[in-house]
Amino acid sequence: MHEASIALSLIEVACDVLREQGGSRVSALTVRIGQWSSVVPEALSAAFPASAQGTPLQGARLSIVRVPGVGECPEHGPVTLQLTRGLRCPLCDAPTPKLLEGDELELDELILE
Ligand SMILES: [Zn+2]
Repeated sequence: MHEASIALSLIEVACDVLREQGGSRVSALTVRIGQWSSVVPEALSAAFPASAQGTPLQGARLSIVRVPGVGECPEHGPVTLQLTRGLRCPLCDAPTPKLLEGDELELDELILE
């Protein structure tokens, strides 16, 4: 039920924005999910409609953008990671323990009505 609680917290953030901007409902939203985050986009999509029931996001279209992982190689600087290789530079195989991008989960765009 991990994704259901994530859906709920996204809905909460969206409702805050809605209140600030004075809209009545959200018709669409875009969420950025890092490839290296523990969130499964399909599970989030599946959990969203039920979580949005009875909120201003009911019936809103959810789009998910997957963000590739970017690590920092001591030799090559920021490099785009490949999931199959793990946290290693794809050019020289050095470990890149620090993720610069790719573990995010954030609300990117809201379309209000
Ligand atoms: Zn490298």
